[in-house]
Amino acid sequence: MRKRHLFTPGPVDVPPEVLSALAEPLIHHRAPDFIPYFKAANEGLKYVFQTQNPVVTFAGSGTAAMEAAVANTLSPGDRAITVEGGKFGERWTELCKAYGVEPIVLKIEWGKAVTPEQIEEALTGNPDVKAVFLTLTETSTGVLTDVESICEIVAKTDAISVVDAVSALAAEKLLTDAWKVDIVVAGSQKALMLPPGLAFCSVSAKAQAAIARSKCPKYYLSLAKAIKKLEKDDTPYTPAVSLIRALVVAAKMIRDEGIENVWARHARLGRALREAAVAMNLSVFAQNPSNVVTAIRIPDGVDGEKIPKILRDKHGVTIAGGQEQLKGKVIRIATLGWANDLDVFAVIGALDLTLAEMGHKFERGAGLAAAARALSA
Ligand code: PMP
Repeated sequence: MRKRHLFTPGPVDVPPEVLSALAEPLIHHRAPDFIPYFKAANEGLKYVFQTQNPVVTFAGSGTAAMEAAVANTLSPGDRAITVEGGKFGERWTELCKAYGVEPIVLKIEWGKAVTPEQIEEALTGNPDVKAVFLTLTETSTGVLTDVESICEIVAKTDAISVVDAVSALAAEKLLTDAWKVDIVVAGSQKALMLPPGLAFCSVSAKAQAAIARSKCPKYYLSLAKAIKKLEKDDTPYTPAVSLIRALVVAAKMIRDEGIENVWARHARLGRALREAAVAMNLSVFAQNPSNVVTAIRIPDGVDGEKIPKILRDKHGVTIAGGQEQLKGKVIRIATLGWANDLDVFAVIGALDLTLAEMGHKFERGAGLAAAARALSA
């Protein structure tokens, strides 16, 4: 099999220590053997989320945690603010509608971030709003949102703040408690360095009060049930035992490196990618770019849909293309999770070869040189 390199915003390369944990023989989840793993996983999650609140784990992808956040805190007929500046912000609107919640949609031009002032204005104009749904890093555009300032505003109202950190967790700075974020949702297949399959929800006291009032239907994704069991280091249903054992290892790796150092590493690699793109006569799509994924604008005349295909077929390199309105117009590159300086050279080197083959005009090697300068700064 050809050597592969994953540079997508999930799934990501999984370190060998984590893969080994996945290969351990199964143990039963209701037996004492499992409890120390479950405890360690939950402690690890609290560290990665930077929270003292319970963090619930579901077997599911990130969207399951998004759905849980809507279904558990709201009631049909409630109103909630959503921000549509990309595909994942739109998902909050869709989920609200699915549960009979009326979304007040803030439409933001793709590539831009919603501002705290826009959220404040929407909250002032709609004082009955029960929740504000945000996306820390909008994976479809590469935009980072100032969740810290926005959640400070939301905290002064009766509404809860809900942050999609599915792609951001353990890559972009996020202080759940200090920033007063009521619910953070995340998934395993991003900077947590695990395979897909786990979805997480941190739940504040204010969110727990909202859960007690909520009348939306829920069963498997009941946060109240999961939190009650979590207090006894247990789960309502069969947990994804192997993934939880792997999570213990991945969370320890993050703790050993130090979460601030993990964020700094992502920032350093993200900056190198952005500087390399500019040096290759390309531009960064996002006005407020995240370090999670870099969306690179592809000039007219170059087929943006072909770039990921050539990278995959000739070089074994997987990146992401543009989604929806950005199809063919951007490529998205992520150095997420278990990534280091050499990964930047690998993906930029492969991009240099590919763009040259496609006839894009740029100085050969300039991207690699820019990356080298950024990484040695
Ligand atoms: N939100 C964001 C910001 C994401 O990047 C993703 C996955 N790309 C999701 C939600 C959905 O997660 P999943 O595909 O794991 O359901």
